[in-house]
Amino acid sequence: MSSVEQTLSIIKPDAVQRNLVDAIKSKFIENKLNIKKIKKIKISKEESAEFYKVHQTKPFYDGLCAYLSSGPIVVMILEGENAIQKNREIMGATDPQKAEIGTIRREHGISIDKNSVHGSDSPDNAKKEIDFFFKS
Ligand code: UDP
Ligand code: MG
Repeated sequence: MSSVEQTLSIIKPDAVQRNLVDAIKSKFIENKLNIKKIKKIKISKEESAEFYKVHQTKPFYDGLCAYLSSGPIVVMILEGENAIQKNREIMGATDPQKAEIGTIRREHGISIDKNSVHGSDSPDNAKKEIDFFFKS
């Protein structure tokens, strides 16, 4: 079964810095994910730690939080059929070297930490993450 969903996408600092915002937005549009809301922001280390708190026990947590708050990011609400899963497919695997050809991370990611994009991984997390950035 398919259904229209919303998911959260983040273009991470490495990709914003390398002027990849338009190229990444085009990937979503080509794949019928509509950009419902978009904003460019810079978040604090504390906000980054809150956003990624599901990873707080992981060895990479401190570096990850420092990284996401290291420069401007672009956050988006994407909407479309099966948007959550579809976005994950367009992004590719966490490690760009393991991501399939044609995916954003394979084309643009630098390393497992500087992997250019974030995408929600479940309906629950999509809702939480959209609220985190867009609840007024
Ligand atoms: N990450 C990292 N080192 C690792 C695994 C993950 O720096 O060994 C970072 C990477 O930026 C990744 C983020 O932590 O995107 C969140 O990890 P997750 O396993 O949720 O991967 P994702 O859902 O982003 O593919
Ligand atoms: Mg994840």
